[in-house]
Amino acid sequence: MLKPNHNYSDLKDSYLFYRIAQKTRAYVEAHQGAYLYRLGIGDVSLPLCRAVIDALHEAVDDQAVKETFHGYMPECGAHFFRAAVAGYYAKRGVKLDEEEVFVSSGASDELGDILDLFDKLANALVLEPAYPAYVDANVMAGRKIVRLASGEENGFLPLPDKDINADILYICSPNNPTGAVFSKEQLKKWVDYANKKGAVILFDAAYEAFIEDETLPHSIFEIDGARTCAIEICSLSKTAGFTGTRCGYTVIPKELEREGMNLNAMWVRNRTTKTNGVSYIIQKGAAAVFTDEGQKQIKENIAVYKRNAKYLTDALDKLGIWYCGGKNAPYIWMKCPRGMSSWEFFDFLLEKAQIVGTPGEGFGICGEGFFRFSTFGSPADTEIAAERLVKLLSE
Ligand code: PLP
Repeated sequence: MLKPNHNYSDLKDSYLFYRIAQKTRAYVEAHQGAYLYRLGIGDVSLPLCRAVIDALHEAVDDQAVKETFHGYMPECGAHFFRAAVAGYYAKRGVKLDEEEVFVSSGASDELGDILDLFDKLANALVLEPAYPAYVDANVMAGRKIVRLASGEENGFLPLPDKDINADILYICSPNNPTGAVFSKEQLKKWVDYANKKGAVILFDAAYEAFIEDETLPHSIFEIDGARTCAIEICSLSKTAGFTGTRCGYTVIPKELEREGMNLNAMWVRNRTTKTNGVSYIIQKGAAAVFTDEGQKQIKENIAVYKRNAKYLTDALDKLGIWYCGGKNAPYIWMKCPRGMSSWEFFDFLLEKAQIVGTPGEGFGICGEGFFRFSTFGSPADTEIAAERLVKLLSE
């Protein structure tokens, strides 16, 4: 009898979004005609920008003509795409060889697939509260998870100490769900830890484009020493509205080695075995994000989400409620008022103000007592939701 992968039995039910959907459905059924202000979802609401759409159309037309038609693309990425990403990093002073950039179908795919590079016995350190996929991808592979809790006292930015024992180390900055961003000095501590320990950092930079304080690092490769201990995984999903179009990139420096094995070369071997690349059309559209026009246009969309963030942070400031995020990230992580638990606050907001958010407890135990707002929704709804929040919590 074939043995299935029994590690799947160790996965916890991903009940967070299911339970949110259930509770909201029940509310709508009980209150016919009620309008909900949805600040829970992490999906974008604005369409792709013009520069991307034009590049996609041109690429479709290329595929109709023998001379410009493309069949299989290089597995690790088209030259034009890898060069565009390397050029983007260069503008921030990070020098990358094109062969250190790998195209992907998005960060989720990579966060799972990249684990092929590591031994099954390596453990995974997750800084909580965390994006749930980090834990689940490692549980499926049978790895031990080490959790490092964070809280209000360290602004949800935990630092290494000598008692932490990690092999694979996840850092997400700007963070989902907390919106907190590590400074260069703080990241340097993790880089030093990883180099000393021989660990590898998986740096999730999915929200780097939301950083507006230019003293904060967009990439782990802005930190000295990162080239010998880090892999960066990034996505155009939130940067440029690619959640449904799918494209991202991963950076693996050529210096990154463990036990005499080169991780960049291993990833080339992995990609050439397990994928046939990302489509020509999508890579063309994605490369347009890094043109001057593309950058200008995606920033216009990001500015809309930032305005949403401002409605909410102004409301929380007015109420004197503790929060982090919102300024350099599309998420706001607030402390639940009046000592309410995450789910109590969820029910309270839904019942009294018809606002839907995400209970912090769903991102790890230390998220209990906190609540996440997403700023990716409609500006009109977010503005009204912020007003309702102030009214409700001032009563
Ligand atoms: N990493 C983080 C922290 C995310 O929040 C998300 C999506 O919400 C992803 C990765 C996945 O992004 P993608 O759409 O590129 O798979």
